[in-house]
Amino acid sequence: MNFDFFEPRDGQLHAEDVPLARIASEFGTPTYIYSKAALTRAWYEFTAELAGRDALVCYAMKANSNLAVLNTFARLGAGFDIVSGGELTRVIAADGDPRKVIFSGVGKRVDEIALALHHDIHCFNVESLPELERVNAVAQGLGKQAPISFRVNPDVDAGTHPYISTGLKENKFGIEYGMAIALYRKAASMPGVRVAGIDCHIGSQLTDVAPLLQALERMLALVDALGAEGIPIHHLDLGGGLGIRYSGETPPDPRAYMREIIRRIGSRRLKLMFEPGRNLVGNAGILLTRVEHLKTASAKNFAVVDAAMNDLLRPSLYSAHHEIIAVSPSDVMPQRYDVVGPVCESGDFIGKDRALAIREGELLAVMSAGAYGMVMSSNYNTRPRAAEVMVDGATPYLVRRRESVAELFAGERILP
Ligand SMILES: *Cc1c(COP(=O)(O)O)cnc(C)c1O
Repeated sequence: MNFDFFEPRDGQLHAEDVPLARIASEFGTPTYIYSKAALTRAWYEFTAELAGRDALVCYAMKANSNLAVLNTFARLGAGFDIVSGGELTRVIAADGDPRKVIFSGVGKRVDEIALALHHDIHCFNVESLPELERVNAVAQGLGKQAPISFRVNPDVDAGTHPYISTGLKENKFGIEYGMAIALYRKAASMPGVRVAGIDCHIGSQLTDVAPLLQALERMLALVDALGAEGIPIHHLDLGGGLGIRYSGETPPDPRAYMREIIRRIGSRRLKLMFEPGRNLVGNAGILLTRVEHLKTASAKNFAVVDAAMNDLLRPSLYSAHHEIIAVSPSDVMPQRYDVVGPVCESGDFIGKDRALAIREGELLAVMSAGAYGMVMSSNYNTRPRAAEVMVDGATPYLVRRRESVAELFAGERILP
């Protein structure tokens, strides 16, 4: 498994050199825990083959936008892929460089475009003709020229969950492949934009690189055709999507993937860009939770824990599988449990039919929860959001304090 920074020592699960039980007693549960060493290793694995090349890796921060996570990547030289003005503001708060930011997303507002222009971001990934016209108009109004790239939909099937597949014709994302050249011609004639690159992003949690490489071939055909028309493309952004191991998957090795890409680029002079999200953070985080009750029924046993779908939505939303591990060994016989939260929905589960040797009050670690975990959390059932801790060696740092109930309704008012 890829959990090397979350391993048992003397039977006690640790995050790097810190026992998880210590984090629970200091910071409570449920708590998200990130390993700085795991984040750093994922970054080096992703970027190793790009050393010495003109390349920019923009962490897709929607996967996990805690400031400490962003700052860890910023210090490693990362750019950021953002999908809102709020995310840009976070990049700046985390000491990231806005000039290494690319702005993705189908619904950019005028004020968000203006904010991004004000901070001289690296590129706008434009997803439609109306958006192109809007970016052009806002830039002209500010006396600027916006660097743009079109997100082209290569119409390949990523073979992943329909909610996280984005590269097919029927998806809302990107411009149609057959429209690309006409749109580039149009952009080249607009005074408020400057054609910088081309991009695609076909889906998430891909465990096979074949569709990614198929998309690459289609993008390269467009790069060549545009070059022949006198519209030079300076960068090729292949998006994110590289999968991780949750349980039985064998995800692609980022280094082998990079080597394949570099080989196919050949002698073309293209800056290479990527937007990895999950791959950089997924296995670098866990969710620590405590067993409240063990409930036995005739058909099923339930372990009711203090984390719920509002803390980790992926199992409920995508039927996603997360490994669940007891933090300390217990001398009881393992039994099969559905691990569920206290939220009033039958869809509130963290894992189904898991063999666990546990007692009430003990701790469970929900593995591979670093991506699309905390960021998708909510306050449903007036549940304060979890704390977040980042471990660096032997030190746990609280990087987001647990919410209080009072904060949850601080903005609300009753009628006079
Ligand atoms: C979500 C997203 C990513 C990151 O996807 P991962 O599967 O987490 O790597 C990259 N680019 C765009 C445009 C996205 O929407």
